[in-house]
Amino acid sequence: MRKLGHGNYSSSGIGRQNKRILDCLRICEEKCTEIFGNIEKICEENSRKVLKAFIENKVSENHFRVFTGYGYGNIGKEVLNKLVSQIMCTESALVDENFISATHALNVSLFAITKPGDTILSVTGAPYDTLKKTIYGKNTGSLRDFGIKFKISNFKDENFLDLLNNDIKVIYIQRSCGYSLRESLKIRNIESIIKKIKKRSDALILVDNCYGEFVQEKEPTEVGADLIVGSLIKNPGAGIAPSGAYLAGKRNLIELCLNRFAFPGAKLGIGPSKYNRELLMGFYYAPMVVKEALKTAVFAALFFETLGFEVSPKYNEERSDIIQAINFKNRENLLTFCQEMQSTLAIDSFVTPTPWKMPGYQNEIIMSSGGFISGSTIELSCDAPMQKPYSVFLQGGTNFYMSKFSILNAAMRLVNNQ
Ligand SMILES: *Cc1c(COP(=O)(O)O)cnc(C)c1O
Repeated sequence: MRKLGHGNYSSSGIGRQNKRILDCLRICEEKCTEIFGNIEKICEENSRKVLKAFIENKVSENHFRVFTGYGYGNIGKEVLNKLVSQIMCTESALVDENFISATHALNVSLFAITKPGDTILSVTGAPYDTLKKTIYGKNTGSLRDFGIKFKISNFKDENFLDLLNNDIKVIYIQRSCGYSLRESLKIRNIESIIKKIKKRSDALILVDNCYGEFVQEKEPTEVGADLIVGSLIKNPGAGIAPSGAYLAGKRNLIELCLNRFAFPGAKLGIGPSKYNRELLMGFYYAPMVVKEALKTAVFAALFFETLGFEVSPKYNEERSDIIQAINFKNRENLLTFCQEMQSTLAIDSFVTPTPWKMPGYQNEIIMSSGGFISGSTIELSCDAPMQKPYSVFLQGGTNFYMSKFSILNAAMRLVNNQ
């Protein structure tokens, strides 16, 4: 049996390496307190915002009902849309469990707000992998098939400002680094980019907000974004919402997105739903759960840095998403880490993850995940392509103390292997 907890680690007969881990643990716990304090403050501010929205929208038990078929008069959906629109400070929002995930909602939004001949310009490099088929697929119903161009630039050099012209209908910004090694965009970076863009262009600003919700005190829609999209099996679902995505923004844009998601002429707040209660609970718990995930990321960053591994971001850097990259230097370490992490997750702890060739990726990928929601990454999970620099992307953790056990266990195994 695997043993968890400080008690077991510090029992007599502990090896030298384990002593090193325990010393490291003590140093890290001490050093994290200030950063954890900041995370608490952000959580408090977001909690206030969310609770206010529940009260002002008069959320009640009636909203938890199941709606079938056309779902006319789905008051649960109606209140969810209003609640999220208030939380995101927008005119309107579309929240639906029938979105498979954010990829689905992003696909809907990109088609909804463009027409053939338009150009979309991404200013944060190549978008998240799962969108490649939406953008470039051949005879798949992609943007390209419909004559919608997708250009890519990088905000760092600000060259994109020269690319702005009347043909550019949409500026696409990805807040999170996703699975690349660039930095995530902080809200103030997003604000400054948007200000510069708005001076020169009428382009709509669409932000992929995945992994970013409740990490800072504001959302991109509070600093000028016209439309944001996010996944309910990430931050705002809190590990409770079983599926879905949300879109929030200008009323006319949400209407266009609804017309694409459902059908032209559809009204907000129709359609079947079984999980109104879980989606509402997700938003309710999200600020707190994101706080736990952030503590997990900060602790992991400091812990593995102290043990001699490169990490990004560093524990005390400002964050705008919940992703933590750790460079394990070689294949062996990376495998050990992912397998040891899996062995301490609540669900499927007995499974051994192995690298596999996932469609759409060049190299083999290894993933550890053991959550209550399939594929959910607000729950503790990690993914890594089996290639140099052998970095793992660690994210989520709905209970920091449990995450800490997992991290300690994996570290102990890694250090003992070396
Ligand atoms: C996860 C993610 C997506 C896709 O979201 P899914 O819910 O997994 O479809 C898109 N963009 C970014 C930045 C993401 O992190």
